[in-house]
Amino acid sequence: MCLTSSQNKVDFAGPAMPQKPQKNAQTAHYIELGGYQYWPVLVPRGIRLYTYEQIPGFLRENPYITDGYRAYLPSRLCIKSLFILSNETVNIWSHLLGFLLFFCLGVYNMSCVLPTFGASREDYVIYSIGLFCFQVGVFPLCMLCSVGFHLFCCHRSEKTSRRWMALDYAGVSIGILGCYVPGVFYTFYCNNYWRQVYLVTVLAMILAIFFAQIHPHYLSKQWKRLRSLIFCSVAGYGLIPTAFIPRILGMYFIAALALIFYVSKVPERYFPGQLNYVGSSHQVWHALLVLMFYWWHQSSGFIMAHRHSQPCPDAPHHT
Ligand SMILES: [Zn+2]
Repeated sequence: MCLTSSQNKVDFAGPAMPQKPQKNAQTAHYIELGGYQYWPVLVPRGIRLYTYEQIPGFLRENPYITDGYRAYLPSRLCIKSLFILSNETVNIWSHLLGFLLFFCLGVYNMSCVLPTFGASREDYVIYSIGLFCFQVGVFPLCMLCSVGFHLFCCHRSEKTSRRWMALDYAGVSIGILGCYVPGVFYTFYCNNYWRQVYLVTVLAMILAIFFAQIHPHYLSKQWKRLRSLIFCSVAGYGLIPTAFIPRILGMYFIAALALIFYVSKVPERYFPGQLNYVGSSHQVWHALLVLMFYWWHQSSGFIMAHRHSQPCPDAPHHT
């Protein structure tokens, strides 16, 4: 009896405190009623920005970025926020331009570079599929997922925001995996058996990671360790067979550097509040990702040309 009454008290006190309530419908409700202390004022030509203390819990990832947050927005205004200066502007545009870059490069490769290689018909089909999937498909898609997340993370529904975040993670890891499918193909160019073993396991990993990442618990704090473990094992697995190719090693160096920035939140950690709009670690991570994919793109052409100029010594496996 006593317990229930005290519980009632807690329940009763609960909704009046606006600090950690938000489950989607409730959030919307609060906004409609003006229940938040800071009413999101949407002026005609702008979108209101918030400080770190004012944003809902699920947006609080980086306390060193103290201001410039968008929050509580419906989808339409999320899209509109593409054209205002917030702390996500650089993140959005860097990968939006990255998308355009890789899409154009992919189309260019498909239509102009590929026909110049004197490949056999079988090779040609494999390369076309590979190129199409990874250059017109994976990299641009990876960039687009990221753009989507940074655009819609400020959505007023936490569930929507989380979904975009999951897509962003899936996009990046599939992009990284995508880097080494063609790498593996050429590393084991003269060894059919190992090439197939490796490609099958990599494809299995791609699928496993994709499904793990759209799992609802994947982004919870408890799974944080598992997340980093998956990321590192994916990267490590690719390193094993390709480590002796300097160009691919260079790619992994960029990836490692990008991850260090991502995890350590380095520049803004030492200048809290000063790198809110430009120069934060996430922006460096974005730039390095674009650089890494570009590096990969250049390298794959280089390795492809190398393989064609030096056929396998003893294995006439393609007739
Ligand atoms: Zn990002």
